[in-house]
Amino acid sequence: MPLAHNGGNPIFDENSAPEYLNVPDPGTICAHHGEDRELHRGAVIPPIYQNSLFTFPSCEERSRKWLPHDAEIYDYTRVSNPTTDIAEAKIAALEGADRARCFGSGMAAISAAILSCVKSGDHVVALETSYGPTRQFLSDYLIRFGISVTYVDGDDPGEWADAVLPNTTLFYLETPSSMIFKQQDLRAITAIAREHGIATIADNSWATPVYQNPIRFGVDLVLHSATKYLGGHSDIVAGVVAGSEARMKKLQAEEGCLLGGILDPFASWLLIRGLRTLPVRLQRHQESATKIANALLDHPAVAAVYYPGLRTDRQPEITRTQLRGTSGLFSVEFKQSGPEAVRRFVNSLKYFGIGCSWGGFESLAIPAGAMEKSLGGVGTAHRSFVRLHIGLESAEDLWDDIEAALKAI
Ligand SMILES: *Cc1c(COP(=O)(O)O)cnc(C)c1O
Repeated sequence: MPLAHNGGNPIFDENSAPEYLNVPDPGTICAHHGEDRELHRGAVIPPIYQNSLFTFPSCEERSRKWLPHDAEIYDYTRVSNPTTDIAEAKIAALEGADRARCFGSGMAAISAAILSCVKSGDHVVALETSYGPTRQFLSDYLIRFGISVTYVDGDDPGEWADAVLPNTTLFYLETPSSMIFKQQDLRAITAIAREHGIATIADNSWATPVYQNPIRFGVDLVLHSATKYLGGHSDIVAGVVAGSEARMKKLQAEEGCLLGGILDPFASWLLIRGLRTLPVRLQRHQESATKIANALLDHPAVAAVYYPGLRTDRQPEITRTQLRGTSGLFSVEFKQSGPEAVRRFVNSLKYFGIGCSWGGFESLAIPAGAMEKSLGGVGTAHRSFVRLHIGLESAEDLWDDIEAALKAI
């Protein structure tokens, strides 16, 4: 069966474009924002400031460092670094945030953001289908500090309101969520949070700031595993948190500098390199993934495809008003149930590596239905479940590969 030629998703056509589409062009931000080439003798690529320490020409200059807001003066890379600053400035601009802070991994960003919003004895409401290690941090780690968590399905904003306790200080969101790509109505949920003085965090790794800006819908802190699309080449592990000046200043001073999980300058430099092509990469991921997801939906062996924007989308209104596009990661469920079918399919693929990450140039598959643990909050009902990352290879080659593997089920 040949691929349909409608790679661009009709759900995002000009006519249905909400006002929200009017944001600064991400390609221009990635190419220019946050850079001052004159500082670096006209070099188009900023240098890597691969140093821990910055020294001062005089004691007076050093004491100037302790005056508020003198960001131009550097003293130590755990606090700030000129290479990392460029990556942070670009990501803050892409997200519509005042400031961003890079971390040594997505989990370092997640734990820092959560810790900046809770204290001993607090209560968190979190999305059931959040990324597995995030759930582990919330359930198994924070309990040491007497912090409790309630998980919600998340589709209905009312569930979030019903879960609020007198000591709730945080709503943790991930939209679309891991494995099953369920979305949350950010406008409605952040309105409930504001009513109760509750902070909100959203993991935006899947959509990237090119296709979704949670802050524009009222979220306080947005975060990413920059290991995925922002880096985009499977060559760094990185994370980032972005938000308002007030929240980020506190987070930078406390969870940033005291817990110390910085992104090192070389990884920051690779992150900047990755960001340059983020919008064009995303466009290609979207085009190929949409073609392949639609072809899967039409295939007799397939029971369901979990990918926002398809004709089977159960949340089309959120897709249309919250997202500007879709990325290259989705899950497929086969009619033939059981982990054996899933393993046979994945083992038969030739271009898809078997691996748990995503967001790079390469296509990947994980036999989620055969791996109890990776299903996280998704549940064991999805035993014939495979998550695919559609990389930058030819969509036709990838589809031929998938079509052949479907015969092996
Ligand atoms: C991978 C991932 C993370 C964690 O990021 P690391 O860089 O691996 O620490 C967080 N959230 C989501 C949705 C992820 O897929």
